[in-house]
Amino acid sequence: MHTFFSPDGKMTMEEACKKAVSVGLKEIAFTDHMDMDLPDNKNAFQIKDMDQYIQSIASVREKYKGKLSIKTGIEIGLQDWTLKDAALLVRKYPFDFVIASVHLVDGLDPARSEYYENRDKIKSYTDYYQKIYDLLRQYDDYCVLGHLDYVRRYMPYPYTPGDHKIGMEIVESIFKLLVERGKGLELNTAGYKHSSKQPHPHPDILKWYRDLGGEIVTIGSDAHTVKYVGYENKRALEWLKQAGFEYVTIFTDRQPKFVKI
Ligand SMILES: [Zn+2]
Repeated sequence: MHTFFSPDGKMTMEEACKKAVSVGLKEIAFTDHMDMDLPDNKNAFQIKDMDQYIQSIASVREKYKGKLSIKTGIEIGLQDWTLKDAALLVRKYPFDFVIASVHLVDGLDPARSEYYENRDKIKSYTDYYQKIYDLLRQYDDYCVLGHLDYVRRYMPYPYTPGDHKIGMEIVESIFKLLVERGKGLELNTAGYKHSSKQPHPHPDILKWYRDLGGEIVTIGSDAHTVKYVGYENKRALEWLKQAGFEYVTIFTDRQPKFVKI
């Protein structure tokens, strides 16, 4: 989840913790955005003061001791030319949990209309997946891949059932890479509040990841406001069970631990 440390976050850590306790969560991770070298500085998804970010997490962790386990995380946004800096940053700080995400395809943000100018629905998905695959082949400093089909949230083309099967040959390569390298997948519930009413990824795709040997799945609300802390967490556990998972994964010092559902 994202706090004021990310320019798009709209809650304090304290508010997020309070809400997490009130909805019965036992453990959370702050994963504020860190995208390097973005084309539009105004929308820079960057933590301005990393030391302060780490300290703030330590301070709420202390305050909520015994009530809520709080992990130091980050959502690191990848681009072809930022991989080295991203790895250096991730290694520099004591992160428990690192989400690798793609928010830009060759400098274009799928949240903006320019991305779709020369792309139909199929190409919008496949170019996004291909970018994930190309980046993850070269980058290893992360725990899970974030919001696999993120592009679906913003697509101008209406969602139709079966869209989650587009680009599956590339997604298969992504899943095989994750499994081979001991990385996991984020089940991101935020997609559920968009028009498709499906999480990232679709539950069928989650099952397929399982069939390909995927074992590591973390649940993320991707909350940017207090309202969405713990969003559809129970439903996410059901999706996991239905997909054949008996465990959900949590991370400490970037090491996975499997918790029985
Ligand atoms: Zn993201």
